[in-house]
Amino acid sequence: MSNENNEQLTDEQILMCLYDKTFTCPVCEKTFKSKMIRKGKSKYIRSDIDLKPIYYPLKPEYYDVIVCNNCGYAAVSNKFDNLTYSQQGEILEKITPKYVKKDYPDIYDADTAIERYKLALLNCMVKKSRVGEKAYICLKLAWIYRDKEDRKNEFSYLKSAYDGFNEAFTTEKFPICGMDEDTLLYMIAAIGVLIGNLEDSKRILGKLIVKKSLTKRLKDKIIDAKERIKIIEENNITNENES
Ligand SMILES: [Zn+2]
Repeated sequence: MSNENNEQLTDEQILMCLYDKTFTCPVCEKTFKSKMIRKGKSKYIRSDIDLKPIYYPLKPEYYDVIVCNNCGYAAVSNKFDNLTYSQQGEILEKITPKYVKKDYPDIYDADTAIERYKLALLNCMVKKSRVGEKAYICLKLAWIYRDKEDRKNEFSYLKSAYDGFNEAFTTEKFPICGMDEDTLLYMIAAIGVLIGNLEDSKRILGKLIVKKSLTKRLKDKIIDAKERIKIIEENNITNENES
């Protein structure tokens, strides 16, 4: 469901859940403020198959991209300070001259969040980030398009995330975007279910479920994902028989 939050809260109530955090930009060195959710102000409810967390009343991922309004540098919060000297130069050369300063509203809706993630993705391309970081941003974009019930864009970003995570799995060191090996494998399988790569997903889930390192949380998600594949396959058979 798309509207599990925000609707019942007034803007004033939402603003009470937010605060301004001051950042120093690692590219242009100016300080600026960005909206963040106050600790404990949004409650975790559950997660989707691809671990998209559902919170109430505010969606933390909408506030996870930090944008410097002076130079156009943008990144997800846990990558914001990780910048090499040459990456800083690339951004000053390729992003800053084209960046049009923008004042974002105090409350970030899906469209504002999408704009901020796309700017972070553009920064990733320019600073030649690891493929895992790009895939992670694509996953977040897919989640926000899911909130908007925009299936076409959701699918397209899920596909990019899927390809990126597959590449990251073989080329990068763990943890990848905060995920250990089991979690990333599960993530690839889960996205596979959503984009219709059922056979690959079944193979990965089958290998994962017998691993001793598995956490209870992940094991439960795997069982749910296998159940979902079964339902999709049964539906496919029914549809084939009907047509
Ligand atoms: Zn800056």
